[in-house]
Amino acid sequence: PLAALAQDLNALLKETHAKFANLPGGANANYIPFLANVPSNLFGIAIVTADGKVYEVGDSKYEFGIESISKAFVLCKAMMDVGPDSIMHGIGVNATGMPFNSVIAIELEGYSPQNPLVNAGAMAANSMVKGPDKDAQWQIVLDYLGAMAGRPLKLIDELYKSEAATNQHNRAIAMLLEAYGHMWADPLDACDSYTKQCSVGVSAKDLAVMAGMLANGGVNPVTRKRLLKAEYVPKVLAAMSMEGLYTTSGEWLYQVGLPGKSGVGGGVIAVAPGKMAIAAFAPPLDPVGNSVKAMAAIQYISEKLDLNLYKST
Ligand code: GLN
Repeated sequence: PLAALAQDLNALLKETHAKFANLPGGANANYIPFLANVPSNLFGIAIVTADGKVYEVGDSKYEFGIESISKAFVLCKAMMDVGPDSIMHGIGVNATGMPFNSVIAIELEGYSPQNPLVNAGAMAANSMVKGPDKDAQWQIVLDYLGAMAGRPLKLIDELYKSEAATNQHNRAIAMLLEAYGHMWADPLDACDSYTKQCSVGVSAKDLAVMAGMLANGGVNPVTRKRLLKAEYVPKVLAAMSMEGLYTTSGEWLYQVGLPGKSGVGGGVIAVAPGKMAIAAFAPPLDPVGNSVKAMAAIQYISEKLDLNLYKST
């Protein structure tokens, strides 16, 4: 049956890639200059099963900016460092119902970030990851992301420079959180470490391995290293269900029924607990900031494999 599944998954990936390769709609993120210039027609998909088998198709090895998908993974590290209660009480785990960089969301609900998967909460989560100094703290974040991918990851320098030069809005949010007592490090250091985590280069295959850790109870399915306590995994997946695709997280859950996370670099991940992780990458985004083709591809695969979590059988 495993060989049959392998054949099926390879065939399904090919079929999915062909089906959506020319799907119109969306545009590259343009508020970060580097992202505007990534070729729009790139399209890759990868699946990693909970037992560590890797399947990929298309531009699955192309390295792009992880962007907001890093928020889910740095949340794992922060949860390991401070525990899930500090995440819930210090940041929040509800939906903001607002864009990922909303300042109003902070002002309206108790002056707190509300969720670790929007910019405010992601900077707060980053600030919970401790290090002896700024550079060492960033190295700890980067090493954790690399352990998740099963290979050392690197900054895309040009992307980092591009983001750092244009992240005044995020710096303002970080300062605001400091004023409201929701920062656990120097706010501008946390913003810088967050900007770096967003500028890390990953492929769709890397993302599938990283998300595979969440499909496999906290253990990287390829390297077999435990990176997250098993009992924290459902909490990270709950946060993803709530806010993973921003204001359209509800529509995503309604249609796909899996926790997901998107990034403005064009990546999307989805996790089917105990079964597999799916990652897809294509730069054109919908107005909310989610990759149009990546969402369509994951939804199709999830339907074909009957992965919806809310089904009884
Ligand atoms: N680095 C981006 C930002 O902070 C990430 C946003 C995203 O992927 N949604 O604006």
